Amino acid sequence: MIPFSHHRVERTDYDTLIIGAGPAGCAAAYDLARAGRRVLLIDKRTFPRPKACACGLTRKTLAALRYSVDPIIERTCREIVLQQASPDPKQREVRIRNRTPIAAMAVRERFDNFCLQQTLAAGAELKKIETILALREHETHIELDIQTANGPETLTAPILIGADGSNGQTRRMAPPRDSHGEALSPSAQDGFALEATIPYTSLPTILPAGDNPTDLIFDFAPLPGGYGWLFPKTDHINIGVGAFAPTPNPGGPSSATVSSSPKVGSQEARLKRVTRDLLAAYTLHKLGVDLTHLPNTVTGQHLGMGGHLYVPQGRILLTGDAAGLVDPLTGEGIHSAIVSGQAAAAAILETLPPTAPGSLSPIPYPLSPAVIYARNLRPLQQTLAFSHRAAQAFYKDPARGFRIMRTPILRSLVLKTYADGLPHTKLLTRLAKLVA
Ligand SMILES: Cc1cc2nc3c(=O)[nH]c(=O)nc-3n(C[C@H](O)[C@H](O)[C@H](O)COP(=O)(O)OP(=O)(O)OC[C@H]3O[C@@H](n4cnc5c(N)ncnc54)[C@H](O)[C@@H]3O)c2cc1C
Repeated sequence: MIPFSHHRVERTDYDTLIIGAGPAGCAAAYDLARAGRRVLLIDKRTFPRPKACACGLTRKTLAALRYSVDPIIERTCREIVLQQASPDPKQREVRIRNRTPIAAMAVRERFDNFCLQQTLAAGAELKKIETILALREHETHIELDIQTANGPETLTAPILIGADGSNGQTRRMAPPRDSHGEALSPSAQDGFALEATIPYTSLPTILPAGDNPTDLIFDFAPLPGGYGWLFPKTDHINIGVGAFAPTPNPGGPSSATVSSSPKVGSQEARLKRVTRDLLAAYTLHKLGVDLTHLPNTVTGQHLGMGGHLYVPQGRILLTGDAAGLVDPLTGEGIHSAIVSGQAAAAAILETLPPTAPGSLSPIPYPLSPAVIYARNLRPLQQTLAFSHRAAQAFYKDPARGFRIMRTPILRSLVLKTYADGLPHTKLLTRLAKLVA
């Protein structure tokens, strides 16, 4: 690891560089810009841009955002339907209802563009690039070589936030490391999901599996270690299949690192089950729609996981999927992306004073941003560590999970956890023991 130095550097172009203008990057940029910092968001796509995502926004996600996203909400859901494979039709479904909405449905392209516009209005700048050529972490600052449509360019800043998602370059160039300094291997932990959007106008009058087209459905029948989903929007259903279950982790923390990967193969095998054929068969089964008649509708992406072990270091702070912060139980990642982006911004504001354009980089306070970011990230990581254990237990035997959910009190706890999260550490510890 490069030591964090208090020496001055000649000049910096920005207070913070942020790679990726998705939920994590925008959340960080918004807070920094509102605090008056010179912040540059860098993205390789032109917005609005599509992104594989069912865009279910839980109550905790909406609460974490600094602004209302009401203008782009398509539907709110007060009920979730959990389904499993069972020979007994009565055991196949559990409906969990709530008096107030549990989650809101949006379309990701519109959600991300809305958040980006709020962030630019707050004062952040945006640069479109073709690729990152190099990322150099020095004792005193970061140097980033980028390729733009106008040619190569080098940017400098005291600190950089990696928010370019599960397949981004930052995660490869500066991989997240655990407390032993070992690089966390994405292939050992990541999930993978495929989705399609089906217009209501393409559906038969009665759905073949007997579902209601406006239900929010999580279905554990189509594949082991994951689920199929149906998320209802205004004019279409987002249907998908994903593998999320973490690799069994008998060796403790280090078994998720690059150096020891005996389970990598099995995780890859799980992800390989998530195919276009599986999604096509599932869509036919649930919606009676043949995906071959809807070309170009299927998209997919990895989901960054394993980040409950991430220990931030140096001048590159990873956030969201780039840090592996997707919840392995639910596959939910927008909440973690926002919370981690805000946590990184708060750490920077606490440790690095602002700089004037072209001025010397600041002398930081004694604590490094990475140390404060690690502290800020801990509550989220504790929740994800709990989810990691709960996911291992649940996906090993979903039928047991369904039996648990037949108890009203546990059912409402599951609902509350999904909607609001579990910030209470003592409760988490107790629950973690229960599911272990
Ligand atoms: C099929 C599917 C369904 C999902 N459904 C849900 C859901 O319903 N609810 C939920 O909460 N989560 C869901 N997720 C997870 C969620 O999409 C991610 O966790 C979330 O998008 C992470 O946000 P992020 O900001 O970290 O990264 P991203 O949203 O991936 O944003 C990364 C940004 O970085 C840019 N970028 C990438 N590489 C580079 C580069 N080299 N240089 C510059 N820019 C780059 C990208 O263009 C993008 O704008 C789903 C994921 C998948 C795959």
